[in-house]
Amino acid sequence: LFRGEIAFLKGVVAMDGLPPADRAEVCFAGRSNVGKSSLINALTGRRGLARTSNTPGRTQEINYFTLGESHYLVDLPGYGFAKAPLPVVERWQRLLRAYLTGRPSLRRAFVLVDGRHGVKEPDEEIMKELDRAAVTFQVVLTKRDKVKGPAFDKVLEQVRGRLAAHPAAFPGIVVTSSEKGEGIDTLRAVIAGIG
Ligand code: GDP
Repeated sequence: LFRGEIAFLKGVVAMDGLPPADRAEVCFAGRSNVGKSSLINALTGRRGLARTSNTPGRTQEINYFTLGESHYLVDLPGYGFAKAPLPVVERWQRLLRAYLTGRPSLRRAFVLVDGRHGVKEPDEEIMKELDRAAVTFQVVLTKRDKVKGPAFDKVLEQVRGRLAAHPAAFPGIVVTSSEKGEGIDTLRAVIAGIG
């Protein structure tokens, strides 16, 4: 799946801009600065495909990428942007809710959680949205290289504990470092296994 052509398709700001739901899609969600752009770039092997370090609160688009001809990879705007004005946050929440509940071809959401911090309040919020929408989600821990072993074990334990309370949570957690390439092949295989 990741050996074929990977390309940016379009940025979407409203439900009527979504491409036809004619193939399987997976989406990536996470707090601003969690490492989402870096992870998408590592997954696709294309530096700069997803812009890194987006300014929080700027135009919030749902970015569509094609993985060959069989899948869409969807990059959701980063959330938890405390500095964004309320109307921006509310518009984004409405679009997010509409997308999650109204996209039958969405097979799985990957919720990126910072490997240094574990599950925070904004992560809980999106997991609750995913529960409500009955969209299976899987946690991807980022920045593994930034945390020492024992501290990371604590984070893993915290994340597992939180996931236990979410009916839509997929049990496996994928541990990644975009910096070191850790977990990237695993995540590619997980996505390739979603038909
Ligand atoms: P986004 O806002 O979620 O798209 O986050 P970015 O991908 O822009 O990453 C935010 C910051 O974290 C940047 O300075 C990245 O270089 C850094 N970063 C992202 N992934 C990793 C990682 O795996 N390891 C380390 N050490 N830094 C990372």
